[in-house]
Amino acid sequence: MKKDFAVIGLGRFGGSICKELSDKGMHVLAIDSDETKVNEYKNIAYHAVGLDATDEDALKEIGITNFDHVIVAIGENIQASILAAVILTDLEIRRITVKAQNDYHEKILNRIGVHHVVHPERDMGKRLAHSFISNNILEYLELSNEHSIVEVIAGKKMIGKNLITLDVRAKFGCNIVAIKRGSEIDVSPEADEPLHEGDILIVIGADQDINRFEKAFI
Ligand code: ADP
Repeated sequence: MKKDFAVIGLGRFGGSICKELSDKGMHVLAIDSDETKVNEYKNIAYHAVGLDATDEDALKEIGITNFDHVIVAIGENIQASILAAVILTDLEIRRITVKAQNDYHEKILNRIGVHHVVHPERDMGKRLAHSFISNNILEYLELSNEHSIVEVIAGKKMIGKNLITLDVRAKFGCNIVAIKRGSEIDVSPEADEPLHEGDILIVIGADQDINRFEKAFI
């Protein structure tokens, strides 16, 4: 079943969510208090309206409670973001995602009961930092404070070896869950298939184990 989305705040972040969801064929209602933004998104989103998201009556009037997922991407104006989040949680919207500007903002949003708080600048900073530290790490996704999934280029010492001889789970405590080779991705790699130069391994595990694994085969 197709979901209905409402995106409040059409800055860089909200705008990009709105465009991507619309490109994927989703029904998106784009909302902003700035009419210029609303006009800009009229041809992109299914529908675009100008309103102040801190105005509960205005939100009710457009039927915000009928949406499956409401995303609040109000950037600079933290007060407006918090107020909109309070209104939406009070209205018991099925799923609410709010962009946090800083750690305090994030704390408040969690306290209010927002289902999903995102912190894109901080998360992107972390991901990039990991890729800067190691030339072999291409992507990094934090699962918890200590666990992550990384995309790592197969080290020189891995080439020609297979997953049985590498024995990654026993030796390092992490798992190779998929292997990318060119444009193909094998999500259930055969244990006896030798690795090729340029293969990209998708590894899940504790950060320190992934680190040991990566260093062992450079
Ligand atoms: P970003 O950092 O993602 O670019 P911005 O702060 O630049 O975010 O943009 C946020 C958007 O949210 C702006 O287009 C702004 O007009 C809109 N906005 C701010 N306050 C409200 C509000 N109370 N109701 C609706 N939209 C709002």
